[in-house]
Amino acid sequence: MQEALAADIGEPCPPLDAKVGADVCIVGGGFAGLWTAIELSAREPGLRIALLERDICGGGASGRNGGFFSSSWWDLPGLTGLFGEAEGLRYATAVSDEVAAAERWCLDHEVDAWYHREGALGIRAGAWQEGIAGEGPADVCARMGEAARMRRLTVEEARSMADSPRITAAAFVPDAAICQPARLARGLRRAALERGVRIFERTAVRGIDRGRPAVVRAETGAVRADQVVLTIGSWAASWPGFRRSFGVIADYMVVTEPIPELRREIGWTSNMGIADGRDLLYYLRPTDDDRIAIGGGATGVAFAGRAESRAVTHDRRISDAAARGLVWLFPQLEGVRFTHAWGGPIDMTPSFVPFYRTLPPGNVHAGLGFSGHGLSQTKLGGRILAGSVLGVEDEYTSLPVNAGEVAKAPPEPLRWPAIRAAVWALQSGDRQEEVGRSRGSLRSSIGSAPSRYRDRLVRRGA
Ligand SMILES: Cc1cc2nc3c(=O)[nH]c(=O)nc-3n(C[C@H](O)[C@H](O)[C@H](O)COP(=O)(O)OP(=O)(O)OC[C@H]3O[C@@H](n4cnc5c(N)ncnc54)[C@H](O)[C@@H]3O)c2cc1C
Repeated sequence: MQEALAADIGEPCPPLDAKVGADVCIVGGGFAGLWTAIELSAREPGLRIALLERDICGGGASGRNGGFFSSSWWDLPGLTGLFGEAEGLRYATAVSDEVAAAERWCLDHEVDAWYHREGALGIRAGAWQEGIAGEGPADVCARMGEAARMRRLTVEEARSMADSPRITAAAFVPDAAICQPARLARGLRRAALERGVRIFERTAVRGIDRGRPAVVRAETGAVRADQVVLTIGSWAASWPGFRRSFGVIADYMVVTEPIPELRREIGWTSNMGIADGRDLLYYLRPTDDDRIAIGGGATGVAFAGRAESRAVTHDRRISDAAARGLVWLFPQLEGVRFTHAWGGPIDMTPSFVPFYRTLPPGNVHAGLGFSGHGLSQTKLGGRILAGSVLGVEDEYTSLPVNAGEVAKAPPEPLRWPAIRAAVWALQSGDRQEEVGRSRGSLRSSIGSAPSRYRDRLVRRGA
């Protein structure tokens, strides 16, 4: 965000300080809210849209993430299990289509988001790892006639793209891009303003008086609106009606100093993202100023979903784990300097997929739970939410995610210790395997609990 604001601070959007009227009020200025505003203003140019954001647009997860604008092909087994073969495939295809659509959108709107559609490399960095390069996803893609979506590579081919000596297997996903997410968020903000969307930053919404019209109450003003869109990401965990929709975990990123020569040395000269296949996977991408940004390897857990707790923004142990990951994957980078670290909240649903739900009396539409994969899914989400606001039934509103939560998360005080235990088991299990030791049955059993729960939903065809 620092880099994006230095490049373009944008026009000011002062806080709401009056009672105003709007056709649609969007609460939350992350990707989900901004894409919805853009989509609505494109489909209904005369619509009066107000967007309220407690921080600045992109100040939540959207300006802090890994920048992987990815398709969901690696999760096709899960999606088809949850929604059935035809609907799971339809959802994966719709998400995947957004990768090229976002590139077009950035070009058309002159948003320089450092968007590069050069694919993603999934690696197994050790025999114990699964992930993108595991057997399941590529097999299911091939069986469903989508073999080109995930191409298996030999170790030599993968190492010629980025020379990590850890690689034991790899797959390449062409439908994937990387971007500088804060630049994208600020570009969306600019485009929304240009289309006449009224944006009020530093405006925290306290509640919504439901009715027709609804009244969206902020500290210093209110918006009376016919329709409301609720896209407040992880913050929804403390809102009535959503307390059991997901758990909030914390992910961290670190970024190196510019290292053009070292990048050449490891042969990673393209703008392709890389992810390994450990349980708490590492994901890394180059930046346009020749740094490498990496996240993952460890994670924090926010009690009762408090998206602003220090566990989410200031846990040095977790950002250190990300930094360690870069040198573990590429020992050639030993001694590289890291200049920045930051963390952010992830709204992780038990099914690992987002959900859309319309609340009574039928004019408040929520889009939440992007589960750490929101870049492409929020773009699609903008189409779903815009369709719900406009009351249309189309190829987007009929997608299977537009049917509320697949399953609820356990309530506090059970949720926090349960997720903490699973995170401990996964993280320490990965560490054991890294040095050639078995993770043991206790870690396996505790660590696999969330996936086993999801598998039960998958088998039920939830
Ligand atoms: C470190 C990290 C790495 C990640 N890496 C990736 C990745 O590489 N690829 C990927 O696809 N996804 C990634 N994600 C997830 C991705 O960032 C999210 O899925 C996506 O940004 C969700 O967008 P959103 O609009 O739902 O939420 P947010 O961006 O969090 O937006 C919600 C907004 O609502 C605002 N808000 C909250 N409460 C209120 C209120 N009461 N009133 C007004 N406004 C309010 C918040 O300030 C925030 O700006 C990552 C996340 C993190 C934290």
